[in-house]
Amino acid sequence: MRVERARELGLCYGVRRAVDMVREAVPDHGSLQTLGPLAHNHILLAELAAQDITAVSTPEEVTGSAVVVSAHGVPPHTVREFSERGITVIDTTCPIVAHAQRVVADMAKEGLTIVIFGDANHSEVRGLLGWSGSRGIATLDLPSLGDRDALFLGARVGIVSQTTQRIEDFTSFVQSATVEVLASGREVRAVNTLCDATRRRQAAAAELAREVDAMIVIGGRNSANTRRLAESCAAIVETHLVESPSEIQVALFKGKRCVGLTAGASTPDSSIDMIESRLLQL
Ligand code: SF4
Repeated sequence: MRVERARELGLCYGVRRAVDMVREAVPDHGSLQTLGPLAHNHILLAELAAQDITAVSTPEEVTGSAVVVSAHGVPPHTVREFSERGITVIDTTCPIVAHAQRVVADMAKEGLTIVIFGDANHSEVRGLLGWSGSRGIATLDLPSLGDRDALFLGARVGIVSQTTQRIEDFTSFVQSATVEVLASGREVRAVNTLCDATRRRQAAAAELAREVDAMIVIGGRNSANTRRLAESCAAIVETHLVESPSEIQVALFKGKRCVGLTAGASTPDSSIDMIESRLLQL
């Protein structure tokens, strides 16, 4: 069986940068706590834990003199609160997320109601909501007709996206929302805050999925971008989302001549190497 890697896969620029920044900073602090996991991947988190870099869930749990903000970013008040407690913030917010935060903050300053196309429970979206002051709403669906007034509160509406959403989904959301907002006599402004790394990984995965008998998507099941990669591949060919080599079962690959590999933006190189080796042993 042949195993082929997608031409772009695995750790994105933002997560790789965050991991490098934290690994560089840890010798100065002895150990470090990150607010939330640095990436949604158990293997990467175990590698970091071995270097005394561990995650806490809430700002109150931070006990050291420094804290790491992940690539997903945080609301501005979280950074302020750490400063007030005398805690140094090592800010690894991805520059692409930081751009989305600036767009949202500017829209809020101009008085727009901001609709964030994204998962309201995702840490990046919670951060963006913080940058919107009290002017933001996060949603993945246009609400039912009766609730739309609540969504499009202001005279002017700004629309942005969680960076890791699919361009097709964002485009269709913007089209439907724009029709609604314009029909009600209000103004709308949409800004593309999507991450190109995600789009390029998705394009490379889809291209490979069309050429192989099955796809393996490597990454955490709790990673939104990994799950979306798996959904895109599954629409084209048989696809399996796996986190560790132990999930690679011979029966799954019976009769397959070529298997494609891709990996989410938080999947470390070590995971990809281990799963590729396991596949080549089948
Ligand atoms: S997926 Fe994109 S926006 Fe998110 S951390 Fe990676 S490079 Fe940054």
